[in-house]
Formats: sequence, structure tokens, C-alpha cells
Amino acid sequence: MHTEDDLIPISALQHLVFCPRQCALIHIEQVWTENLFTAEGRGLHEKVHGTDAESRPGVRIVRGLRVRSLELGLVGQVDVVEFQQAESGIRLQNETGLWQPLPVEYKRGRSKISDCDRVQLCAQAICLEEMLDSEIEYGAIFYGRPRRREQVKLSTSLRDKTSSLARKLHDLYATRTTPKASHQKKCQSRSLLESCMPSITGTKKDIEHYLAKAGMDE
Ligand code: SF4
Repeated sequence: MHTEDDLIPISALQHLVFCPRQCALIHIEQVWTENLFTAEGRGLHEKVHGTDAESRPGVRIVRGLRVRSLELGLVGQVDVVEFQQAESGIRLQNETGLWQPLPVEYKRGRSKISDCDRVQLCAQAICLEEMLDSEIEYGAIFYGRPRRREQVKLSTSLRDKTSSLARKLHDLYATRTTPKASHQKKCQSRSLLESCMPSITGTKKDIEHYLAKAGMDE
């Protein structure tokens, strides 16, 4: 079990899934290079969180809810939590009946083959379960391109993967060591490319080649 002092942002999980070096550059070295995509993503979240809470028949909506899990050692914010009236669930203040929480994450882009978005959503759900003392079976991700909502079953395998990644994340933080780059196709589209310099930081040979070209070798 973790303490309040060693909680890590949930957002680091999706960076870890994408690339451990990216995760360390952003969350340990605090390097952040904003580009159009990251700025658009931030704008979308600000828009979602900036909207007032909503109430519809059978549904109560809360935005930008702060959550944390001492079991995972993670802290973050859920874009939207929809409380849907159900036969089982939790009680809400000033409301009658029982309500089932459904966390909803907003993403600028399209659905991905990688589990990075689903892992982030699952971590948010585990935080909510711990804080509300409830069980959450499903979450949802709203993608911007095309605009569609994807339902995500919070299966045992997704939960195990999320817990395992949270442990790896804490191990990475404990070492305070940024992993070496490995230049891959996915490096091209990311905002950290200039800071990471994968073609010259990946191997010793590449570094020697770079120093020789720059006239800095002996
Ligand atoms: S440029 Fe490539 S190696 Fe560097 S952080 Fe991005 S994905 Fe990782």
C-alpha cells in the first residue's frame, strides 16, 4: 500500500505504455515540448472540465473529479463521471435510489490498437472504486476523430495489466534513470522528438558518430 506522499499522476501510465523513455523524460526529467497535437488535447480536457455539472433523468454527471488510489499509488482526474440510476450501486447525497458510476475519458484522436487509453481509464476506475467503495464494471472513452464513444469492459486482464504497469511506474520513479532511446517509427509523430533525439541517444555507437561529426571527439 502506498501513501499520499508517493502518488504518481495517472497520465504517466499511458506514457509508460507508449515508451518508457518518453515517460521518464516527461515525469522525471520534466521535459515537455508542446506541439499542435498536445495543445489540442489539453484544450479538449480544459473544455470538458470547464463545463458545469449536469443532471438528466436517471443520470447525474460530474466533471473533472479528482481521484486517487493508495493501492496503485496513483492520483489524477476523471474527465467525466456519469452516475446512472441502477438496481445496485452507491448512494448519492441529496438523491434517492442507487447509482452506478461510469468513468468517461475524452481523447482528441482516434481509437488505438494499443491499450494505453484503456489502461488510463481502468486506473481511474480503480481509483473511483477505492474512494467510493464500489465496483465498476464498465468505463467509456470518447474519441474526437471520428466522434464516437467506446465502451470498455474493465476485465480482470485489463485490471492486472494496469496494476502491473503501476508497479513498473513506481520502479522507474525509484531508479530516477531515464531509459535509452530506441529509434522507432512511432518516434516521428511525438512532441518529445527534439528533446529525446533518439537517433543520437540510442546507442554508444550513435553518440560516438555524433561527436565525431561535431568535431568533439579526441
Ligand atoms: S522519440 Fe522515440 S524513443 Fe524518444 S521518447 Fe519518443 S518514442 Fe521514445
